[in-house]
Amino acid sequence: MQNTDIKSMTLSELNDAIKELGLPKFRAGQIYSWLHKQFAEDFSEMTNLSKDLRTKLSEQFEIKNCTIERKLVSSLDGTIKYLFKLNDGEFVESVLMKYKYGYSVCISTQVGCNMKCSFCASTIDGCVRNLTPSEMLSQIYAISKDNDIRVSHIVLMGMGEPLDNYDNVMKFMNLITNEDGQNISARHISISTCGIVPKIKELIKLHPQFTLSVSLHAPNDEIRSRIMPVNKAWNTDELLAVCREYTETTSRRISFEYAMMSGINDTDECARELASKLKGMLCHVNLIPANEVRENDYKRSSSEVVEAFAKKLESYGLTVTVRRSLGGDINASCGQLRRNRGKEERL
Ligand code: SAH
Repeated sequence: MQNTDIKSMTLSELNDAIKELGLPKFRAGQIYSWLHKQFAEDFSEMTNLSKDLRTKLSEQFEIKNCTIERKLVSSLDGTIKYLFKLNDGEFVESVLMKYKYGYSVCISTQVGCNMKCSFCASTIDGCVRNLTPSEMLSQIYAISKDNDIRVSHIVLMGMGEPLDNYDNVMKFMNLITNEDGQNISARHISISTCGIVPKIKELIKLHPQFTLSVSLHAPNDEIRSRIMPVNKAWNTDELLAVCREYTETTSRRISFEYAMMSGINDTDECARELASKLKGMLCHVNLIPANEVRENDYKRSSSEVVEAFAKKLESYGLTVTVRRSLGGDINASCGQLRRNRGKEERL
């Protein structure tokens, strides 16, 4: 029988398990702190527990960790991209970025992805499996440990579609915001989705405090369906309707991601159409010059085109940011390191 994944357990689940073992309640608090504050990767590190207890725990529970397989440090801005190996030998990617306001980590939520966006390298071989809450946490813990820092912001924008792994992502949110663990404010966490409408509806019911980012990337169904197959399941009108409902119910601003690809979605007409669709919504648009990946032929829009597009959107009253590109020299966009494992010379 497989041992229970102890780092994915909430404190109250851990309390129950400890009670069942006939142990005093404070042991659960100690173990939780070792896992989520001290980032213990093995029961042998838990030195305030008796040796017998540590052995007993290791017979029943497993600690899922991420070990660093590769690490690329940007010489431009210190951004660090990690390729992590999971306990079962699968690989995921994460990125550490330093901003004025603190350290932000971009984590993966699945090994691969099923969404098939045509410009994205993470999705090419489909989704191998979902990540557990512990594996999402471990990316942050391993990075905190490696750099001896406290991470203050988290974005779920790495490999995978968070809302396609909804329950594990929600449990991860519970654990990472828990005050007995890392206690990261939900307001410092962003979840990015390609637009799984029924799951956004579920989120609305939770009145979340985190930021929802929606990968829109196109102003209409014709373009969006071509580059994002998810649009065939829930089209642009359905997606934008649920986004409006989200902002009206939660009073939280939505961030629309828009990767600018030359000749695909970057014309004046696209800007006009986008502005008319987003009119009056509590949102902002984040323009991202697309990352060129060797697996497809998309070319990023020139900086002049991106600037003109931003100005056009602003002239229609939208709030626009152009994403500062971090780690340009290490190709910090996701999916590439994992795919090119063993082909280092091509990086
Ligand atoms: N599945 C989620 C989160 C993962 S990807 C989502 O779709 O939002 C994080 C962001 O990177 C998404 O906005 C995604 O569309 C974008 N992205 C993927 N490949 C890209 C590329 N080559 N250039 C620019 N952005 C890309």
